[in-house]
Amino acid sequence: MKIDDLDLKLIYLLMDNSRLSISELAERLGVSRPTVKSRLEKLERDGVIQGYTIKLNPELLRAHNVVALIVKTEEPEVLRELEEIIEVNRFTSRKYLIKIAVEDMEQLRSVIERAGFEVLEIMPILESLEREYPPRVKIPFKCDYCGKEIVGEPIVYKYRNRVYFFCCPTCFREFKRTRENIEKFRLKEEQKIENAHNHEHSTHG
Ligand SMILES: [Zn+2]
Repeated sequence: MKIDDLDLKLIYLLMDNSRLSISELAERLGVSRPTVKSRLEKLERDGVIQGYTIKLNPELLRAHNVVALIVKTEEPEVLRELEEIIEVNRFTSRKYLIKIAVEDMEQLRSVIERAGFEVLEIMPILESLEREYPPRVKIPFKCDYCGKEIVGEPIVYKYRNRVYFFCCPTCFREFKRTRENIEKFRLKEEQKIENAHNHEHSTHG
């Protein structure tokens, strides 16, 4: 496939505005309309132009908070199925750097729960040097143990398909301890019931 100067100019014009008509393109390039038409057909046929896309209003783009995560997953296909995941970069066969655009923490929680990956690191993006419009607000991460707003990187913990965020190792530790105590208590209660049940059986049998 050969691309000459005219093709390139055509591509640049369309990249800027894919809705330019053949007449408008012909006029800007100073060539005839049949020339533009045949060039476009050739570029499409060769797969150089694979589609005509739209530019989204930056206001809409920046309505989202973007969070970067390093995750480990055995099922990378799932990453592509979730529309909140806007970028997927592979490190190694199972490690990925992904970006998730969400409205709030609950949505982030839900994405992590649905995606089934293991979160190795999580970094809310506060500023993007590449983007003309930075993300509007940072995600108000709240600690699931103390309820305080999380400054910096939250600690992510997944337990029984539910994702929790913590502000510090202390909160994370306390949460786990409380949870373990609750479980121990529950287990004891269950055993009591079971014992009573068995006892009932033995006296009747
Ligand atoms: Zn906390």
